[in-house]
Amino acid sequence: MTEKLYYEDAYIKDFSAEVLSVTECDGGFDVILDKTAFFPEEGGQSADTGVIGNSSVSYVYEKEGIVHHITKTAPPVGVANCQIDFGERFEKMQLHTAEHILCGIIHKLYGLENVGFHLGEEEVVFDVNGTLSREELNRVEEIANEAVFSNIEIETFFPDSGELGKLEYRAKLDITENVRIVKIGDVDSCACCAPHVHRTGEIGLIKILEFMKHRGGTRIWMVAGRRALSDYRKKYSNIQRISALLSAPQHDTADALEKYMKDADGVRSLLKSSRVALAEAEAKSMPDSEENVVVKLNDYSIDELRAFVNAYKARVGGLTVAISGRDGDYKYVIASNDRELSQEIKKINESLSGRGGGRGFMVQGSFLTDEESIRAYFK
Ligand SMILES: [Zn+2]
Repeated sequence: MTEKLYYEDAYIKDFSAEVLSVTECDGGFDVILDKTAFFPEEGGQSADTGVIGNSSVSYVYEKEGIVHHITKTAPPVGVANCQIDFGERFEKMQLHTAEHILCGIIHKLYGLENVGFHLGEEEVVFDVNGTLSREELNRVEEIANEAVFSNIEIETFFPDSGELGKLEYRAKLDITENVRIVKIGDVDSCACCAPHVHRTGEIGLIKILEFMKHRGGTRIWMVAGRRALSDYRKKYSNIQRISALLSAPQHDTADALEKYMKDADGVRSLLKSSRVALAEAEAKSMPDSEENVVVKLNDYSIDELRAFVNAYKARVGGLTVAISGRDGDYKYVIASNDRELSQEIKKINESLSGRGGGRGFMVQGSFLTDEESIRAYFK
């Protein structure tokens, strides 16, 4: 069994240990030490990184009481100076202890159990086995932060089975021996073997970000400590930009954006009706014709082409063909005053690399050919 230094003291950054064995494995070498402060991947928490001598540690796992360190190069057997990346570890301790506090409060207030935990690159995600509302989660968040402000000492101990029987604590596994209890005042008691901070004040701000219904329970995203600061910084610089773009105070940006979008909708519909009116005016300026007519229009949408054709077709004896686009890619609308076009358009599409169709006296689609071929076809 490897001696686990992280049980005694979660703040050990440097330690010397004896390298007992080094075996080649997938992705490098599997190193076993007599003792370690490297916390292995466990219960949703990622493994510590760092160095054993000059060999960097990329992954750590535990199997049957023995901690395995995966390194890129092989450290020599013997005594090695080891160092864990404590910045990363401390962030995880902040997040993990924050999760204890949140789950402890959710358990006390609403009787729900934590049924999943994942520490991601930016946020922590955890699941509880019942539904919670935004108001309920706000309350949980407030109490959690009060627990931080109270700077409560966090105790860890291994009670004997007699004591354990009398304790009330949250546990994911049904084990009764060597149970390590992590007690955060009267906020939470939980069986856990991961490293935690000494006092809740070290966690810093705890912020619940999002939540959603998930498998009959609730999935919750949160940040704490340094991650909460970097999350705040990102969001703050974003809101500063939005505020400047909208010329609105930061706290009024949502209202300002809503108004902006409403105005933009108004402008869009005005533009649309103006363009349709323009298409109809354009149609009025066209000469009467007994034959087929092909008109090329600049930057017309399908709706505008339709408006144009509708306003023009009565004065055309043959087909009214309106196109817009460029050689190789034209939108088209074709109308007739007296013939059903749904069959005829298939033949037209075949000749002009077209797509589309319709029913009745009007059809629409696209021709993947050039203007000259279109004009020649309808001549
Ligand atoms: Zn824990």
